[in-house]
Amino acid sequence: VSFDQYPLSPEILKALQLLNYDKPTNVQKQVIPLFLAQKDVIVKSQTGSGKTAAFAIPLCQMVDWEENKPQALIITPTRELAIQVKEDLFHIGRFKRLKIAAVYGKSPFYYQEKELKQKTHIVVGTPGRLIDHFQKGTLDTSCIKYLVIDEADELMNMGFLEQTETILGSLSADRVTALLSATMPSDVRTLCDHYLREPVYVET
Ligand code: AMP
Repeated sequence: VSFDQYPLSPEILKALQLLNYDKPTNVQKQVIPLFLAQKDVIVKSQTGSGKTAAFAIPLCQMVDWEENKPQALIITPTRELAIQVKEDLFHIGRFKRLKIAAVYGKSPFYYQEKELKQKTHIVVGTPGRLIDHFQKGTLDTSCIKYLVIDEADELMNMGFLEQTETILGSLSADRVTALLSATMPSDVRTLCDHYLREPVYVET
């Protein structure tokens, strides 16, 4: 099995080749076709499994380069993860010339605001700062079609349940959502029950 079995554009396939991703990992084999088919997914998977690329590859494929407003949002528990996910998206989307912004706390608001004013396809961020941008009107969510909740169990451990729900509640219900988590505690399952639509459960 190789990546060219999926309906991915030459730009994405070329980027994967440059990254030396020869074949999809287990989690990628399951998640890529589901996400490309616009299904909500719950992914129980550990770091190191290739989980980031499992959602980053279909997202980079699906966003429309022509659209200037953000089309995909990724929520992460920490700034370090936000930066890592942004880098992974950048590498996968480089030949499509995708613009990825990362927003997180303890970093000047102004620079993020300036970045968000430019063409942005995908935004990655931590809950508090994402809400700040929503409330100040510096992040337009009207075109968000894809949402990823990464490391959902960590988000809950860090006390971000309320903020995560605020974000979920302010997005269009007509979206595709992927939730990734290493463990499935009850608050994560509740989140899935309330905010995902007939999700497919994937475990690796
Ligand atoms: P993650 O689980 O997202 O933290 O990814 C773990 C590591 O696997 C990262 O360094 C990725 O760059 C790498 N990786 C992801 N997908 C593949 C793949 N299909 N082939 C080889 N390496 C990969």
